[in-house]
Amino acid sequence: MNSSTTFDAVVVGAGLGGLSVAALLAQKEGQRVLVLEREQTIGGRIHHYKGDEIRTPDDYLGPLAASTGWLVRSEPPLAEIVEQGLFAGYSFELGMHDIVNGTHSRMCHILEALGTPVEIVPLKACGFWNDGELHELKRGSFPWMDSETYGELRGILGEMRKMPVEEVREHYRESLQEFVEARTENRKVLEFFNILGAFTVGMNSARDLSVGEFILITRMPMAAGLHFADGTLGQMGGESFMQMARNLADIITESGGEVRTGQQVSTIRVEDGHATGVDILGPGGRTETVTADVVISNVPISLTIDRLLPGDAVPTEFAAHVRGLRSSGAFVPIFGLKRSVIDIPGMLMTHIPIDDPALPDGIMLGYEAHSLFVDGKAPEGKEIIECWVGLDTLHLRELKESGKIHLIADAIRDFMFEKHPGFADAVEWELYPAFDFVVSVAPTPQQAWDSMLDPQCPGVEGLFFVGDSVKNYGGFMDGVAYGALLCATAVSGTNYLEQILPAYQREL
Ligand SMILES: Cc1cc2nc3c(=O)[nH]c(=O)nc-3n(C[C@H](O)[C@H](O)[C@H](O)COP(=O)(O)OP(=O)(O)OC[C@H]3O[C@@H](n4cnc5c(N)ncnc54)[C@H](O)[C@@H]3O)c2cc1C
Repeated sequence: MNSSTTFDAVVVGAGLGGLSVAALLAQKEGQRVLVLEREQTIGGRIHHYKGDEIRTPDDYLGPLAASTGWLVRSEPPLAEIVEQGLFAGYSFELGMHDIVNGTHSRMCHILEALGTPVEIVPLKACGFWNDGELHELKRGSFPWMDSETYGELRGILGEMRKMPVEEVREHYRESLQEFVEARTENRKVLEFFNILGAFTVGMNSARDLSVGEFILITRMPMAAGLHFADGTLGQMGGESFMQMARNLADIITESGGEVRTGQQVSTIRVEDGHATGVDILGPGGRTETVTADVVISNVPISLTIDRLLPGDAVPTEFAAHVRGLRSSGAFVPIFGLKRSVIDIPGMLMTHIPIDDPALPDGIMLGYEAHSLFVDGKAPEGKEIIECWVGLDTLHLRELKESGKIHLIADAIRDFMFEKHPGFADAVEWELYPAFDFVVSVAPTPQQAWDSMLDPQCPGVEGLFFVGDSVKNYGGFMDGVAYGALLCATAVSGTNYLEQILPAYQREL
């Protein structure tokens, strides 16, 4: 049986991108919008777990798989963690989540413009391991650097900060490593940029990062008066980043739209080069057709082209470009501890060498004891530590196939046991998940900015894209927000980038 309904715009997927553009079109443009989400919950990759709600291993593994993740291993086995109720009272992310630009993030600007702000908890400190010692980084002081080294570092950061945007564009094809090595031979300065690059742009090696992207992402918080040691990154308490998704969904429904979960779109309908709506796959093979003048896909673009669109809908060259895009993922262990072993309330960063040709750069590890500064993350007196290692997707898959991904898990575990006294006695459970897709278009010197896609789909009138492969700089959730504003602009003709973002967040 087939039934049919009509909307002004239909959005496929209720990730942050889909919900942001839908909320803008519903509230600001008065459009009747329908958002269709395949999963039973909205939010996509910002999924947040409440330990008390994980009653079976699948309650944990299901959302992981929906976001391209898998569990490499756990300690004790997942079934035991769940059976013994070890997750009780904890709440944690799919994998470490911080929002760049903290209280000034682009997502915050969108939510403020929609009249539904959220509260971001800025990270209050930052720690840096150097030569086996942990140093707390403060404004104006990097305790492990002598004044000459610090001066060199400040000089390079100053050049980046003042660089006119036309010049930044010229550096887009250059790697962070090339840029820094052309200015200093100081090992401590190089190492600092290596590690900072890994966390701001999300890749494990400064050779793989576009310095143009690095410059723009690093100077946004500076322009807002934030500092890496306090406020550049932020977390959320309560429902965590899912609160953003919920607020956006409320705006959509309050403005006369709908958000439906458990609705898998099977086809985007295209007639004579125009998108005309979507087919939804229902129980027992029943389909429902929704007609709309505008279809917006929040599904990763390669999947939109390969699975949802008719074979010949988009130009062959465009399809080949999309299929060739290189993405990046992450390895993101999480530890639950009986008592606190960390006293710095923010991101701690280190480089860990690994003696294996599969990991020539070792790993850049970032980790945070969220329970030190965000309420409700761990039961009273306990601690949760969430970790981050950004890795190119192909590299991650090779490590998975060869089994060498365990080298990373071992290295992180050994580091925690060795460097944080009391860790071994306090740790109650360990999860080691990995994700293929954190960023759809990795910000490499070859791809950053230029390889990203315009929101308007070539060859199909009325079809738009939103989500992390749409043109943005800054990446991650903040990049998704930029792409959503670009998409809302393309659909409506109103310049939402200009209306909603301060100038320093829309330099390109
Ligand atoms: C482990 C991990 C850690 C991260 N850490 C950070 C961080 O610290 N800071 C940060 O800013 N960002 C981080 N990110 C990235 C951030 O989560 C993403 O950039 C953002 O959530 C992507 O939003 P999106 O709207 O592009 O896509 P998604 O959230 O993937 O949304 C797409 C939606 O489409 C739905 N869908 C797919 N197919 C269909 C279909 N056929 N029909 C209907 N619906 C469909 C999906 O279920 C999903 O809900 C992290 C991501 C991961 C995985």
